[in-house]
Formats: sequence, C-alpha cells, structure tokens
Amino acid sequence: MPEISAPLIAWYRRNARDLPWRRAGFGAWGVLVSEFMLQQTPVTRVIPHLEAWLARWPSPTSLAADAPAEAVRQWANLGYPRRALWLHRAAVEIRDRHGGIVPRDVDALLSLSGVGDYTARAVAVFAYGDRHPVVDTNTRRVLARAVEGRSQPGPPARRDLGAMSDRLPGDPVEAAIVNAATMELGATVCVARVPRCDTCPIAHVCAWRAAGYPDTGDDRRRQARYEGSDRQARGAVLRVLRDASADGIRSVELIADWADAAQRDRAITSLADDGLIELIDDRARLPQ
Ligand code: SF4
Repeated sequence: MPEISAPLIAWYRRNARDLPWRRAGFGAWGVLVSEFMLQQTPVTRVIPHLEAWLARWPSPTSLAADAPAEAVRQWANLGYPRRALWLHRAAVEIRDRHGGIVPRDVDALLSLSGVGDYTARAVAVFAYGDRHPVVDTNTRRVLARAVEGRSQPGPPARRDLGAMSDRLPGDPVEAAIVNAATMELGATVCVARVPRCDTCPIAHVCAWRAAGYPDTGDDRRRQARYEGSDRQARGAVLRVLRDASADGIRSVELIADWADAAQRDRAITSLADDGLIELIDDRARLPQ
C-alpha cells in the first residue's frame, strides 16, 4: 500500500491515541514490558499495571535482581501469568547476555524468553526506529480487508510479514509510523465487527469496500470461555498465593472449596509444570 502511506501517516498524526509507550524517551525496556502486557490484555487494563511495573523495576537489571515470585505477584490479574515468568527470564537474559541493555537486533530479541515475531519487531521499530514490518491482529485485519478484499483475516502466517514489508515506505521513520498507523486503524476504525469506513483514511483504495463487503468467512480462533474453565481455577490458585507470605500455604488448603476437585488438582499440577508455583513437601508457594 505505498500509495496510501501519506493518508495513513496524516491520519495517524491527527488521531493516534496518547499512549505511554508512544511518548518520546519511553525507552526499549518500557516498550518491551508494554508489548508483553499487551499480548493478550486490552490497552486500558495494561496502562496502570505498566506504570506500576516500571516504577518498581525501571530496568531489566532491577527486575532480574528480584525473585520470579515478585514478578508473578506484581502481574496481579492481567491474565495469562506465564508472561510474568517469561518477562522475568528475559530480564535475566538481558542482564547476563546483553549487559542489561535491551538488544536492538531482531534475532537477539527473538532469542529472549517469551519474545516472538511481533514483539521482537515492535521493539526494534518502536524503541530503536529500525525498519521492519510489525504485524499484529489489527494489522492483519486491515490488510485482509484493504488489500485482499476479505471480511476477516485468516490464521497468522509467515507471509503476513512479507505482505506488510512490501507496503512500508523506505524511510525508517515513515515506515515506523505506517506500522503504528495500520495497527491503530485496525484498533479504532477497521474494527472486527462494524468498521467505521466513513472515517477511514484509506477507504478510497479498500478492496473489501469496493467489492461491496462480501462475507468471505471467518476462521479466527475463538477464545475459550473463562467462566468454569481450568484458566479460572489457575487464576484462583495464583490469587491465593499472591496474597500469601513467601513460604506459601499448605497445598490441601489451596482453593479447597473449589466445586470441581479434579479441575482444582489439574490447575495446581499445570501451574507447577509451568513453573508458576512450587510444590515443596506439603506446601505450595510462588517461585523463589
Ligand atoms: S474502508 Fe472500512 S473495511 Fe476498508 S480498511 Fe477502511 S475501515 Fe477497514
């Protein structure tokens, strides 16, 4: 979409939300932490947690010096708490392998715990200003509609990166803005259910709009229900241990009144397998 870079950039400059990680000088560590938190949690829930996290651990080295249990405790109710452990491991790796500085190179970023294609490129582009494609769910929806004429994107695929790369301007600063603008357009205008095409800066070249909005199917994965799920039981176990002292509590007392005893046991076992809790003798605690 090089021909629409200019309207996208102009639109972004007028309409981008004022988010902490977009402010000048936010730093690579702040961007990395924000991207971990944003992986599966909405922006409005992330912001207060992000600010508290960075106030407590302003650098990878400061987080690495604390126990993993503190990262899990600070993660609180952000969901998918393995991200807290991975972030702690990444902080240790940054301290030990990169002198405490978040690396700039995409391959070095990809070698950190919990860092995938999206996060690695987001840090290289938004923290360091390098030119790479950054593709998240919102970007894929905009590309699917505007370029491919589809109502929803297919499952994530390697070729998404190539599709975005082909559409970036050569200038790294402009390329970074087009990456951010495409994500922002998908988050605020080209939304999943009812896109706001009357305010879209690229409506004049949108293939899906031009085709009359055909329903081309939707093979996105649905998120499983939380209520009654093993995830809910895992969250309940972690909540108890976050509020407990460092040596935890007796395992048999962990959500002892949970209605489904088999689910309770599964939750405890899987949390231990994931390294999110430790089971020592008859006690359970957060990882030290
Ligand atoms: S015109 Fe509508 S469907 Fe096309 S990219 Fe813009 S918001 Fe999305």
